[in-house]
Amino acid sequence: MPERVDTLIIGASAAGLATAAGLRERGLRFEILEGSEVVGASWRRQYDRLHLHTPKSASALPGLDMPAQWPRYPARDQVVEYLERYRAHHRLEPHFGQQVTRLERRDDGWLATTPSAQWQAGSVVVATGANRQPVRPSWPGLDSFRGQVLHSSEYRNGAAWRGRPVLVVGFGNSACEQAIDLVECGSHPHLAVRSAVNVVPRDVFGLVPVLQLGIVMQHLPPAVADALAWPMIRVTVGDVRKVGLAKLPYGPNTQIARDRRIPLLDIGTMDHLRAGRIGIHGGIERFTADGVVFTDGESLTVEAVVLATGYRAGLEEFLVDTARVCDERGVPQASGRPTALPGLFFCGQFVSPAGMLREIGIESRRIASHIAAGR
Ligand SMILES: Cc1cc2nc3c(=O)[nH]c(=O)nc-3n(C[C@H](O)[C@H](O)[C@H](O)COP(=O)(O)OP(=O)(O)OC[C@H]3O[C@@H](n4cnc5c(N)ncnc54)[C@H](O)[C@@H]3O)c2cc1C
Repeated sequence: MPERVDTLIIGASAAGLATAAGLRERGLRFEILEGSEVVGASWRRQYDRLHLHTPKSASALPGLDMPAQWPRYPARDQVVEYLERYRAHHRLEPHFGQQVTRLERRDDGWLATTPSAQWQAGSVVVATGANRQPVRPSWPGLDSFRGQVLHSSEYRNGAAWRGRPVLVVGFGNSACEQAIDLVECGSHPHLAVRSAVNVVPRDVFGLVPVLQLGIVMQHLPPAVADALAWPMIRVTVGDVRKVGLAKLPYGPNTQIARDRRIPLLDIGTMDHLRAGRIGIHGGIERFTADGVVFTDGESLTVEAVVLATGYRAGLEEFLVDTARVCDERGVPQASGRPTALPGLFFCGQFVSPAGMLREIGIESRRIASHIAAGR
């Protein structure tokens, strides 16, 4: 017989814990199922150099600030420690080792199946992260490449490639921080950038987190916010075309709204590009035994390739009826709000100009209110 519970939360990282705290505050009953053995599993797996790109003031979850003595941009291990503290502070006890392999709507609610149990619930909050599955593109010749190929989620640090050329594919925040890490480890990194980009400084003139501007301007139409931000970007970042990048024809706020993609929050990559410490190239056409050929015909010898090519939510892997609540790319149509399936909520699925962790805090509160109102 399935275990019966009012609300089931799937995932015990930022979104799952924040939602649980919101339900607890309202005196509602819930259980949390977490596939791994720890909270914040996704943060523990990330690379050594990782720090939050969003300031701690805008990254703390509801009900618990990050410690005052921590830096403005906490390190990966501090984020993990914070999630542990958050769990303890709100007295949350996830069921660990409970990977949900199937989640389906039944007449009387939701049925979640894990390898060892079944759970029945009136409401279910899917807090499994927008970054659940690494995206690994393929190119002709990749199988014949003799060097190492790893996804950015498997990258720890550049120590193994001191003095050696490494290609990082992509221009997201992981790609650019891992390229910096490779410079700092004495490697010779190159970036393969297929598409046009937007770059904003993480801190405006080294002082104000750009996220604070994003928070102030998030209610403006994206094109208006872009027009207001443009003079600041021009002065602080300069013309990205001068380092061989192509500029998107629209600004960072439109990019987030239209493409659901975060622009680069620059923490030093642009300086390395300008100084030639990081090489810049276009899209990849094919791999050879010892390197790559780019679409413009240029070739490059490299010993390793880091695929910083992003992630996807991968909800179809366990959620029956995904097509009724997600678009053709598998992205939920609603996050932090009721969905087309009664009792189903997603938390933390949308990127936001005000930061994902901040958005998760807001969504978790809203979900808790909806569930409370439905009782
Ligand atoms: C490299 C990197 C840097 C980032 N930096 C920032 C930043 O600076 N600021 C910011 O605001 N955001 C940042 N983000 C976004 C970040 O992912 C979120 O802020 C936050 O971690 C998302 O929390 P989450 O709980 O939604 O998902 P996750 O942290 O991904 O947690 C999902 C949890 O669900 C569990 N799970 C998954 N599938 C199942 C299943 N089927 N059954 C049971 N459990 C399951 C996982 O084990 C995991 O514990 C970053 C993301 C990445 C990848």
